[in-house]
Amino acid sequence: MSNYPSHFSSDLLLTILSQAKTATAIHSTDDMIIETANDAMIAVWGKDKSVIGKPIEEALPELKGQPFLGLLQSVLHTGQTIAGTDTMAELMVDGELKPFYFDFEYRAIKNDAGEVICVLHTATDVTARYLSRRREIELESELQAANEELAATNEELAAANEELAAANEEMSSSNEELASTLEELTVTNEELAESQEILQTLNYNLAESEARFRAVVTQAPVGVCIIRAHDLMIQDVNDAYLKVVGKERAAMHNRTIWQAVPEAAAAYAPIMNKVINTGVSFSATEHELQLVRNGVIQSVFVNFVYEPVRFDDNSVKAIMVVAVDVTEQVEARRQIEAAEEMLRLAIDSANMGTWMVDLATDKLTISEQAEKIHGVAHGAAMTFTAALNLIAPEHVEKVGNAIEQAIKTKNSFETEYIINPLDGSKPRWLKATGKAYYDDQDKPVSVSGTMIDITESKAYDQQKDDFISIASHELKTPVTSLKAALQLLDRMKANPSPQVLPKLIEQSNRSMDKISTLIEDLLNLSRMNEGQLKLDKTKFTIADMLNQCCNHVRVAGKHELILQGDEQLEVMADEHRVDQVIVNMVNNAVKYAPNSKQIFFNVEKIDNMARISVRDTGPGIAPDKLAHLFERYYRTDASGYQNSGLGLGLYISAEIIRKHGGEIGVDSELGKGSTFWFTLPL
Ligand code: ADP
Repeated sequence: MSNYPSHFSSDLLLTILSQAKTATAIHSTDDMIIETANDAMIAVWGKDKSVIGKPIEEALPELKGQPFLGLLQSVLHTGQTIAGTDTMAELMVDGELKPFYFDFEYRAIKNDAGEVICVLHTATDVTARYLSRRREIELESELQAANEELAATNEELAAANEELAAANEEMSSSNEELASTLEELTVTNEELAESQEILQTLNYNLAESEARFRAVVTQAPVGVCIIRAHDLMIQDVNDAYLKVVGKERAAMHNRTIWQAVPEAAAAYAPIMNKVINTGVSFSATEHELQLVRNGVIQSVFVNFVYEPVRFDDNSVKAIMVVAVDVTEQVEARRQIEAAEEMLRLAIDSANMGTWMVDLATDKLTISEQAEKIHGVAHGAAMTFTAALNLIAPEHVEKVGNAIEQAIKTKNSFETEYIINPLDGSKPRWLKATGKAYYDDQDKPVSVSGTMIDITESKAYDQQKDDFISIASHELKTPVTSLKAALQLLDRMKANPSPQVLPKLIEQSNRSMDKISTLIEDLLNLSRMNEGQLKLDKTKFTIADMLNQCCNHVRVAGKHELILQGDEQLEVMADEHRVDQVIVNMVNNAVKYAPNSKQIFFNVEKIDNMARISVRDTGPGIAPDKLAHLFERYYRTDASGYQNSGLGLGLYISAEIIRKHGGEIGVDSELGKGSTFWFTLPL
């Protein structure tokens, strides 16, 4: 205090203090007597001058429980000034406890000795400022949370501004109204200015996040197109999208999506409209559509999503289309599927079965065909071990080794073996192939492959082998006989015996005939196998042909050939081949029915066909053998017959008749004889 100029008395200071706008009070002693308080402070407290001279606790009882008294005490004792801004104090004003906000300071006033003599208490009521700040912050956060709304508000406000301007004109008649409107307008304008400022900041943030979003869209590896909901105008589109639809960027500019991609409108406009109306996104997988890409119509497959982008009021503002061209994948997959289908068809049509063993569980999975081959009920569970048990004992080891080797060497295997089907049917020959498959650690996981029933071809192979040995054997007999005749002729060439010579020549001729017949059969067989049997058709009378054929039998005189039936009937056929068939049948009758004195030819016309038959009264043929007579290499037990052939005669005959479009067959009864017949179209 002693620093103050001496002409400022305490009273004067108090007077100055009392007139100061800042609320000021001085508190002293432990009871914090209110030494003085200016009008401003008394107004803040909501009291009157009577509080001066009272301890503060008594003057302002409502402060009890609030921190201020304690703070004052501490300033008095410590000499440390305490200040605060926007500090709330609850004060009793007009008998009501209300919150106020203050910037305050409790400043310790010290004497020369440095002792605290009193506390200078200044306070500024900042309630109004504080509340407006708080509102501002609220507004700011509201605005931040709803920046779209603000944009809209901004527009609305602008509109309101216009409306107000209009209203302004309208209301010019009413001064009062106008005044109040103007006042409102001013307030609105102020608010607007404030909002605009905040909006600017937000817009800046928005611009930043929009830039970020744009970067994401631009660089996205998938096609993205943003379409405004209310008019379908394209707002934004990235290069990937342009590539999907095959358009230039310029073609998308300032256009609706269907102006830009008209070829997709018919199919997809309704879908997009639905997304806009319902707000439910739509996603499509592998949609096939026709797109005009760079002027060329192309069929493409696209995965895409129509994703609604919403306002805060939940209305759909835009549609984001995200699209990926998956044509290549789809086509690749289709190719694989087609290849698989082809493979499956091939496997099925080859009557092939497939199989797969899970090595860890021993479980065997086999296809339906493989089930049939094994005589296993459809869908029955099978183990690999159980399947091995079906293999004929002599082949088990071979199959086991093949599989083991395949696992070891990683090569595929192929093996042939016999199984005894589970249903007890006849043993079958199988050919199985397979290959092992491994996991990442190179551990074998499974073995799978195909299998096919080769019983028939095995039997056929057997037949062929038999045939070769029979053919060689059959050839050897006449060759040996011819050789013997030639040796004898050689020995007697200097002095030929007139009795023996003709016999040797006859023997040689018979042997040669036999060899020729066998060779002729073999030649016919190979011709037939190569499909080279050609017919040279002419018109001839059947009876004439029959009368001229088989003179060797007539000359031999052992059998009588008797012609019955229609002697006029003519056919259009290869006479030489038909003759061959008749000769074969007659020769068979001679060979296998040697005691049948008579051999009957019969010719008749049945519908549009000529039916020709050769009947003997020999031993006949057992019924179970009849069905096989026309098969290649088939011979019934021929041991009893000297001249039995290669089992080819009837097979070749059947081929000749079939080639003519006719039928061939046999009726026979044991002990009564056989009738071989065939038909020819007239
Ligand atoms: P092959 O060359 O052995 O004679 P084929 O095909 O001509 O062959 O005849 C097949 C089989 O039919 C003969 O092996 C024979 O057992 C039987 N066969 C053919 N014709 C007669 C017949 N007339 N009487 C009895 N068996 C016959």
